[in-house]
Amino acid sequence: MKNCAVVGINWGDEGKGRMVDLLAKGYDIVVRYQGGGNAGHTVVNEYGKFSLHLLPSGIFNADIVNVLGNDVALDPENLCNEIDDLRAKGIHISPENLKISDRASLLMPWHRLQDCLEEERLKDRKYGSTKQGIAPFYSDKYLKKTIQAGELAHPRKLHEHLEQLLEYKNLLLQGVYGAEPYTREMLEQWLETYCEKIRPYICDVTEYLEQADKLGKKILFEAQLGALRDIDLGIYPYTTSSNTLASYAPIGAGCPFIGVDEIIGIMKAYSTCVGEGPFVSEMSDQEAEVLREKGEEYGAKTGRPRRVGALDLVASRYGTRIQNASKIALTKLDVLSYLDKIPVCVAYECNGTVSRHFPLTDELADCRPVIEYFEGWKCDISSIRSWADLPEQAKNYINCIESYIGCPIAYISLGPQRDAYIKR
Ligand code: GDP
Repeated sequence: MKNCAVVGINWGDEGKGRMVDLLAKGYDIVVRYQGGGNAGHTVVNEYGKFSLHLLPSGIFNADIVNVLGNDVALDPENLCNEIDDLRAKGIHISPENLKISDRASLLMPWHRLQDCLEEERLKDRKYGSTKQGIAPFYSDKYLKKTIQAGELAHPRKLHEHLEQLLEYKNLLLQGVYGAEPYTREMLEQWLETYCEKIRPYICDVTEYLEQADKLGKKILFEAQLGALRDIDLGIYPYTTSSNTLASYAPIGAGCPFIGVDEIIGIMKAYSTCVGEGPFVSEMSDQEAEVLREKGEEYGAKTGRPRRVGALDLVASRYGTRIQNASKIALTKLDVLSYLDKIPVCVAYECNGTVSRHFPLTDELADCRPVIEYFEGWKCDISSIRSWADLPEQAKNYINCIESYIGCPIAYISLGPQRDAYIKR
C-alpha cells in the first residue's frame, strides 16, 4: 500500500495523533489537509508528551517531510508558538522538513475575536466552539475575504488587499457586535511578529507533492476531528467547518491527482464528544464521572471535560462507511478494564421505531440508545502485546464491534505510548 489516510471515525479525539506517530515511520511525507489550531493531537514518545495543534504528527521523525495543505486554517500565531515550543524541546524544524502550501488561507487575528463574540451573542444556544476562529475563518475563505499564504511574498499588493479586508471586517465587527475596530498598525504588527517567521516554509506544495509522487514517495494524510464533525455529512450544525473525510484528503492537501490506497479509521473503544449537539449514548452522573477520570477525557486544547458515553455502534458504523475505512485502529481499550459489564449502544429508538440508521441531526436529538452489555475482562491489559494474550472477553468485544461495523480491526491500542498496541 503506498498512500494512506488516518482519519477519525467518531466525534474527534479518537487518538489520531498517537496512531500517526506510530505509523509515520513507514512514510516519507505526512500531510495535514484540513482544520486548524482547534485540534489537539496528543503524542507521547521518546521526546515527551505533546499536544500538536497545526503541525503534522510526523514532525518528530527527522526523515519525514511534514506538509500543511491548502485547506488548513493557517493560523500564523498558533503555528509560530507551536514551532518555538517544539524547538525548545529539541525537535528539528526547518524548511526541509516543514512545507506550507502557498494556497493555504491565513487565519486573521479578527477570526478568533469574531468566534468569541458570536458564541457570546448566542449565549445558551452556542455551538461550543473552541474559539480558535475556525468557523469565521472558513466562512471568510468561501466569501473570498482572506489572504493566501503565498501573498506574503508580495508586500505591496498584500497591503492593498489587507486594506480592503480591514474595511470589510471592521464594518462587521463594529456594526454587528459593537466591537473595537482593528487598525492598520495592529495588522502590521501581526505581519511582522508571526507571518514573517512562517514565510520561509511557504512553497508550491502541489508541485512538491507531484514530484514526490513521481519519485515513489509514500504519503500519509492526517485528518483533524472525526467523520461525525464533517461539515457535509456530520451532525450539522454541530460540525466543524471543513471536510474531515478521507475522500477529501488529496484536495485539501493540494494533490487531487494522488490516490489514497488505504484508509485507517481511528475509533475509540467508548464514545466521547466535545461541545454541543445531540449525543445519543451519553452517560450522566457518577457513571460518566468515572469513565471521564479513567480515560482522562479533558480537551487537549481547552482542558474542557469531554462528554462521555457508551460506544455508539450506530454512529461508528455510519462513520466507518462515510470514511470508507479499509481498516480500523481501536484505541483506549485499556480504559474499560474497570467495568464488570460494558455498555454498548447497538441501535436507536426513535418515536417507537428501533433502527441502526444514523439520522439527520434534527431527528438525532429525539433518539434514545438501545443498550446491550458485554462482559468485562476486569484486569489490566495495558502491557499485553499480542492478540493471543488478550482475555477472551476483550476478544469478544473487539470481534462484535468488527462484525457490526463491517470493517476489520487491525490495530488495538492499549495505552498512549508509541509501543502500547497490538497489530492483528
Ligand atoms: P486526537 O485528536 O485524535 O489525536 O486525540 P486526542 O489527542 O485529543 O485524544 C486522545 C487521548 O488519548 C490522548 O491523551 C492520548 O495520549 C490518549 N490515548 C491514545 N491512545 C490511547 C490508548 O490506547 N489508551 C490510553 N489510555 N490512552 C490513549
